[in-house]
Amino acid sequence: MERLGRRDFLRKSCVLCLSIAARKFGLEADYIYKNELLFTDYEPERVYPLLTSLPLSNAEYSIEAGNIGQITEKEFNMKFGLTVIIPYMNLFTNANRDSVSPYRCSQQVNLDPRLYGKKPVDVHFGIDMTTGDPRKENTIFINPIRAKYLGKVDGLARLSPETPVTRVVDYRGNDLDVTIDNYECGVIMLYAHLLPWLNSSKIGEIIEVGSPIGDITKNLKIGGSSSPHVHIEMIAIPLYIFEDIEKGRTTLENELKKENYSPKKYFIRIDSTAIWKHFNADVYTKTGIRSYYWEITKSAESKRMHYGK
Ligand SMILES: [Zn+2]
Repeated sequence: MERLGRRDFLRKSCVLCLSIAARKFGLEADYIYKNELLFTDYEPERVYPLLTSLPLSNAEYSIEAGNIGQITEKEFNMKFGLTVIIPYMNLFTNANRDSVSPYRCSQQVNLDPRLYGKKPVDVHFGIDMTTGDPRKENTIFINPIRAKYLGKVDGLARLSPETPVTRVVDYRGNDLDVTIDNYECGVIMLYAHLLPWLNSSKIGEIIEVGSPIGDITKNLKIGGSSSPHVHIEMIAIPLYIFEDIEKGRTTLENELKKENYSPKKYFIRIDSTAIWKHFNADVYTKTGIRSYYWEITKSAESKRMHYGK
């Protein structure tokens, strides 16, 4: 990857992502480009948690502060700026793709259950999204990130029996590798509670921006969900595991199964709120976090409480 200054990097990656978006989505993305919406809410100093181990059991949600890392929004955008992320986009469509609807975020990433003023009752590893269409006619989820390694993962009890998992790539189609806590990692996104949509897709095939990946279903509850929605998680996984996958020594599915509710160092749960917050809506719709709590998470006191600094 060529080296650029931070400002240049952000500007160039932003422009590239948006020009790809513009080709894919025509006028809508063109509007984003002209109005430079991507970094409207850019808060370089905001801190997001990174979870480096899981709770020991499903019921034990107490996580030691030492197992929660942090990343600033500025660093996050440096690492992920080359992914194709569409900040203003209708995320749901119908089977014929002749109508679309935006989304609502019903639950935020909450890697540290003490954040956002809630009682420490639950850790939520991803973002839950449902269609903003009140009649729920547009229920096919459109993948907002260009990705590969789309496959089916079985046996993740807390997720759906068939969970699309994608390896995130940059706008050139190369694997997006990032360094987190001094570990070189690849990044996956997984999408839970979906009915499979890409029946004809092959593992390893590049999934283009805007490809539909699954139906959240109008009425079915899949994989322990309380209502129809898609649950999206971002996880950084050491590169040596991807090498083992390439060489056929293991599969992503197996590695994820091993990790289920047992601490596995250097699988790092990423608070992807730093991406989703750039989507064009109010903070609550974008992140699921009420604005009062959103403001709380900015304060020095909050950082000290939750990260010990
Ligand atoms: Zn969820």
